[in-house]
Amino acid sequence: MWFAELVQQYERLAATPKRLEMRGLLVELLSKVPRDELRPTVYLMMGELRPEFEGVELGVADSLAAKAVALASRSTEKSVAEGLRKTGDLGTTVEELLTRGEPRLGADPLSVVEVYNGFLRIANSSGEGSQDLKIRILVELFARASPLEAKYLARFVLGKLRLGVREMTLLDALAVTFADGTKEARAAVEAAYNRSSDLGLVVDHVARRGLEGLAEIGVEVGRPVRPMLAERSPDLADVLTRMDGRAALEYKYDGLRVQAHIPASGRVKLFSRRLEEISAQFPELVAGLPGAIRNPPAIVEGECVPIDPETGEFRPFQEVSRRRGRKYDIQRLQEEVPVRLLLFDVLVAGGATTLDLPFPQRRTKLEKLVRESELVRLAEQTTVGSVTAAERFFETAIAAGCEGVMAKSLAEGSTYRAGARGFWWIKYKREYTHALADSIDGVVVGAFFGHGRRGGRYGALLLAVYNDQSDRFETFCKVGSGFDDATLETLPGMLKPHELREKPDSVVTDLAPDVWVRPSIVLEVRGAELTLSPTHRAGVGAIRPDAGLALRFPRFTGRWRDDKGPTDATTTAELVSLYRSQIRQIPKGNPAESPP
Ligand code: ATP
Repeated sequence: MWFAELVQQYERLAATPKRLEMRGLLVELLSKVPRDELRPTVYLMMGELRPEFEGVELGVADSLAAKAVALASRSTEKSVAEGLRKTGDLGTTVEELLTRGEPRLGADPLSVVEVYNGFLRIANSSGEGSQDLKIRILVELFARASPLEAKYLARFVLGKLRLGVREMTLLDALAVTFADGTKEARAAVEAAYNRSSDLGLVVDHVARRGLEGLAEIGVEVGRPVRPMLAERSPDLADVLTRMDGRAALEYKYDGLRVQAHIPASGRVKLFSRRLEEISAQFPELVAGLPGAIRNPPAIVEGECVPIDPETGEFRPFQEVSRRRGRKYDIQRLQEEVPVRLLLFDVLVAGGATTLDLPFPQRRTKLEKLVRESELVRLAEQTTVGSVTAAERFFETAIAAGCEGVMAKSLAEGSTYRAGARGFWWIKYKREYTHALADSIDGVVVGAFFGHGRRGGRYGALLLAVYNDQSDRFETFCKVGSGFDDATLETLPGMLKPHELREKPDSVVTDLAPDVWVRPSIVLEVRGAELTLSPTHRAGVGAIRPDAGLALRFPRFTGRWRDDKGPTDATTTAELVSLYRSQIRQIPKGNPAESPP
């Protein structure tokens, strides 16, 4: 397929915010792509070269891309810089420069595969001379591109493709194009994706062999499974009712979720909740896990928690997040922040997948599989059949330094639901007993300059929740409390790479911050209550037609959620259900506390 055809469809995709329309455009495109080109086409469309968990990156700095644009468009680097200042986007700049320049007759048209392979060569080049090679490949690609093609090449290279195609929309389109588009077909496509975390693999299988092809995609050690997620509940009585009166309760540890892949031989791999590989940051787990697992190959899941080696007590979660994302000083941090892995689930044991077993059977397998040590332990667990027993366990969990409990269903249907949030797992945290039920993970979409003591710096951030139905970020608060001076100092540097001149289309708000920020950074806030608001747009219409939801007295908890991407933030639907649950909790006859 010619790259020109692909970018034409990119234009149409980028122009529509509507999921159904987008699905139609995707179906049209996927039906035209030759089978063996589907995989690269899908990766390119998602702005990737390989599934995200492989961490394959182009490694092209903005300056290098700008240089390649200048060379290919026969412009000076100064005019590229000027264009960039005006448009804020290298894609638009190169498109304009090439449109204004002399037409380049006789250039060989680019095919999708050539573009993909060119990018792969860039990603694979390293060491001495790699910068020269990267620029040479880029110039070659740009030189053969039309202005429109060059626009998307530049955006891809800088990781800013912005077609707005979400994984879920692409899965819709796959079910329609390569199966019969029914609910069952859609579920099979999604399940295969949840097991493999690889859209390219899914498209390959479904295009070749339809639903049967999807069934061949199993869980594989070395390839992360999308994590099962929990719902929340305002009280333990409700938890037990939802679980038919009996449930397993576990300590809810406050750390970093880790999915550990232990092959029979070879290197252990650790993945974060976002499925990034974090093995390098936790060498002691990589070294210790083979000895802790009796029957590899295995995949186990747990929470990695910082501990005090002297007392065995848990330390604040912030310490373990210092270790995540680290490239240097790993050895020193390993000594400063010792960790323990508390295992709570098993996905593969002895090479066989356990995903389809009910939770009690998985727990038994996990207990047999794990050889406990200082480094690796099983999550503390009990089975309860009454609210009193549940409360007692909850108190023990809090006394042990945990943030609450996780209730897990014991029913036949309590299989490992990869990638899904449901009431098979319910989280119940300490805060539920007083303030607003649970914290909220908000996405930064804007910033306001400070006044007074905060003059010359940012004084508050505009936060949004994620609406996974419309694929938009809807604001729910402006937060200025909870930031210490050191954090305020670092904010400008942290926001800089994401600043935008205009409001991104994906953000829905009636407020106008001083600076817009591309939704990328997630942080945790708490507040007094959720109220209806005329200016915030989160969940507009869910409670009242013209009102959104806002968080009163929001406060940053100090926790940056680096382990979450913008679409992993709290969703609009969750915010609405938090609003509803707080109404249930408010004592009768106390109107001062009820939301307006
Ligand atoms: P979510 O993961 O539900 O989007 P979140 O990351 O804010 O939200 P929490 O509200 O803290 O997470 O609750 C879920 C997380 O709790 C899990 O992803 C896991 O990391 C952690 N956790 C701690 N202990 C357990 C346990 N015993 N069983 C399952 N998860 C646990």
